[in-house]
Amino acid sequence: MSEVCGFSIDEYCVKVKDFHGGNLAPGLIIAGFMVDLACRNLPENTLFEVICETPSCIPDAVQLLTPCTAGNQWMHIIDVGRYALSVYDKYSGEGVRVHLNPSKLKKWAAIEEWFFRLKPKSEQDTQEILKQAIEAGTSILDIEKVTITPEYLVKKKKKSVSICPVCNEAYPSNYGALCPACRDDCLPYISETEHMRTA
Ligand code: ZN
Repeated sequence: MSEVCGFSIDEYCVKVKDFHGGNLAPGLIIAGFMVDLACRNLPENTLFEVICETPSCIPDAVQLLTPCTAGNQWMHIIDVGRYALSVYDKYSGEGVRVHLNPSKLKKWAAIEEWFFRLKPKSEQDTQEILKQAIEAGTSILDIEKVTITPEYLVKKKKKSVSICPVCNEAYPSNYGALCPACRDDCLPYISETEHMRTA
């Protein structure tokens, strides 16, 4: 019997229903298998982040099954409309990308109808789509190795802090030899600051 990130399918369906006000969406079942396949192909104990290529369904499955959320910024959504996600080592960028392969849907008519929106929602047989999604599991997916660009990686080096020689205040060292306020003379103050007593 297939599992999703250590949960039985029944357990996962309960989690999805709790999360979605009792509604079991086929997209979340497929997305659950996508997260499962991706995470199983990362080395154990990898500190990872996730990129979702669509804002639909996949981000919810990621938030249900991993520590990555939009709020902690370990999950990134780039809306290019593809049913895909990448899971990667947050320091090295090494990881895997999983996507739904449309050519693998031939033997799953109900999933195909749902995925390509061949029928209006009211005419779709949701139970049959769910049944096929669970039966199909990871067999309708593709997985490939990827390396993520540096802008999505966490820099290991802690940024150091300097004291500006002009204003004697602290700022991140990587801004240069002076703090940007002194360097660019861009502050919104009309007159020189007059120092006042603090105690
Ligand atoms: Zn300064």
